[in-house]
Amino acid sequence: MTKTYNFCAGPAMIPEPVMKKAQAELINWNGLGTSVMEVSHRDKPFLALAKQAEIDLRELMNIPDNYHVFFMHGGGRAQFAAVVNNFLGEQGRALYLISGQWSQLAADEAKKLVPEEQIDTVSISNHQNKDETKSVTLPDFTGDVRQFRYLHYCPNETVDGIEIFDDIDSPWPIIADMSSNILSRDIDVSKFAVIYAGAQKNIGPSGLSIAIVREDMLQLPSLPQPTIFSYQAQLENNSMYNTPPTFAWYLAAEVFKWLKQIGGVSYIEKINRDKAELLYAAIDASDNFYNDVASQNRSLMNVTFHMKDKSKQAHFLTEAESHGLVALKGHRFVGGLRASIYNAMSMEGVNTLAQFIKRY
Ligand SMILES: *Cc1c(COP(=O)(O)O)cnc(C)c1O
Repeated sequence: MTKTYNFCAGPAMIPEPVMKKAQAELINWNGLGTSVMEVSHRDKPFLALAKQAEIDLRELMNIPDNYHVFFMHGGGRAQFAAVVNNFLGEQGRALYLISGQWSQLAADEAKKLVPEEQIDTVSISNHQNKDETKSVTLPDFTGDVRQFRYLHYCPNETVDGIEIFDDIDSPWPIIADMSSNILSRDIDVSKFAVIYAGAQKNIGPSGLSIAIVREDMLQLPSLPQPTIFSYQAQLENNSMYNTPPTFAWYLAAEVFKWLKQIGGVSYIEKINRDKAELLYAAIDASDNFYNDVASQNRSLMNVTFHMKDKSKQAHFLTEAESHGLVALKGHRFVGGLRASIYNAMSMEGVNTLAQFIKRY
């Protein structure tokens, strides 16, 4: 059988050593004779797992002590609502930077939850014109006296293949949706008020979300909301207000251990940069494919590309699949092709795809 390389954007591949360990432990975890899915989240073994997961994530991301780490339900989109409900109250306003599909969806959700005048948006993408190279221009907020409770943005636009590497100079607390680039490269957590991520790209199974919340943010007035999305309630209950997604939490904990063991975030960042460089180079050199993102905004995690002759796309996808290269179809909103090359994708997998593109 040909080896399968899974380029799915999410749920995405999970490191093989983690999957093998989970398989081995499936019906006998921790010597308990049951799986991790079948034990109380309030008993010692699971509490120890939860504690270690947080310690490992704090170490991997160098999270300062004045930040809380929450393991919650509902993936990335639950956090779209959570940040609004936790921080805006009845008066507060927020600014949303729009750089692609996901940041737009976050703003759309915010506008559903509070009166529209509480949500300001500014488009920072300059690809309104179809022929333009996709890129973003960060606004200059120097001297901006508007009062916002937070500025929200998405550093890696999973659908569009756009990544924002530069820091945003903001007079307001910054909230970042890092669903598709958390743990992919070193970031300075202290520059953010809140970082959140759905787990299914770089952390583990879908359904789980991670929120890293600076403690002063909890002083802001919140709106009435389902208690499971209240950061204050999660704080008071160690992320166990209700039954947490225990199996997802377990797998996330194993992914953190794996990442620490192979060398941590700075180590994987180097590999991620090498993988992306190799793949973009193959696309750029090819007569059949192109990528339309400006080089300074090319995502390290989601490599979007197109065929010059679109009528060949179906053939390309079928051929790729027969070579074990699966899930290369672009997002249903934008079409084209996309290779998601998260932490768990090996250099070998990317190289196989790059060679295939070269030969095609
Ligand atoms: C995948 C993704 C989401 C949505 O996550 P769900 O868990 O499906 O809600 C949100 N933001 C970004 C940037 C994503 O990549």
